[in-house]
Amino acid sequence: IICSWKKSTSNIRDVFDFKGKMGSGSFSEVFMVREKRTGKMYALKCLKKKHLAHSNLENEINVLRRIQHENVVGLEDFYESRTHYYLVMQLVSGGELFDRILDKGVYTEKDASMVIKQVLQAVSYLHENSIVHRDLKPENLLYYNTDENAKIMVSDFGLSKTLEHGVMSTACGTPGYVAPEVLAQRPYSKTVDCWSIGVITYILLCGYPPFFEDNETRLFSKIMRAEYAFHSPFWDDISESAKDFIRNMMHKNPTRRFLTEQALRHPWIAENTAKDVDIS
Ligand code: ADP
Ligand code: MG
Repeated sequence: IICSWKKSTSNIRDVFDFKGKMGSGSFSEVFMVREKRTGKMYALKCLKKKHLAHSNLENEINVLRRIQHENVVGLEDFYESRTHYYLVMQLVSGGELFDRILDKGVYTEKDASMVIKQVLQAVSYLHENSIVHRDLKPENLLYYNTDENAKIMVSDFGLSKTLEHGVMSTACGTPGYVAPEVLAQRPYSKTVDCWSIGVITYILLCGYPPFFEDNETRLFSKIMRAEYAFHSPFWDDISESAKDFIRNMMHKNPTRRFLTEQALRHPWIAENTAKDVDIS
């Protein structure tokens, strides 16, 4: 299939006014931009072609283009120039998940459960469409807008294969959210996202990560053995239901780990077992 809706431009600045940089990684930079023709604001992800020499980007873009979910950042358009690919993404303005939690005075299990439910619904939808995110972490969970009850949006997915976000680059970057089987370089699947959601849930409830080691080798071996605990006193007042949810999401064995469908049926998500008292 060829990418029939791809647009070419000799200079992306003919199409957009650049407003400011929102983020940058090793393969890409993200800018806030205004489309000149319509005045609409977007997040523009700029990828250097030289990093994508043998990639399958256009096929992956064709998949992303069809992705539409209320908790998933939408891909609106796609440009290429001689040197770059440009992904025009829906702009969300509420900031990253953890930044807001730090600002919030009161935080409850119920708040965490409602955030995780939205993440599960988004990731479940991606999985149904055969997309494994592979890089789920707090920086990729964004609030839709600045309202107190704004929904959560999952971003930065679908290009992970192309950008080799897999074993190597993750191992060089933030391994704290990566599943044991990824570090062990075994073939992996949708269940790696469920592990990451377990890690994010853990942090939401206690404020520190399940694995922390200054030494990367020790960190890797702790993750590979799924060696985490619910330490006293930090976890004393957290419900047994929350811990059960995390144990199922962070199961060392991927074949016994929850998939999103099971996770969405767990009482901590589906029923009222998440406590509604301040844990911040
Ligand atoms: P990277 O590959 O560099 O991680 P991301 O797509 O995660 O790229 O974007 C980097 C940062 O830019 C994010 O952590 C987020 O703060 C911001 N960002 C990304 N996409 C959007 C968006 N659609 N709306 C608003 N901010 C965004
Ligand atoms: Mg990112």
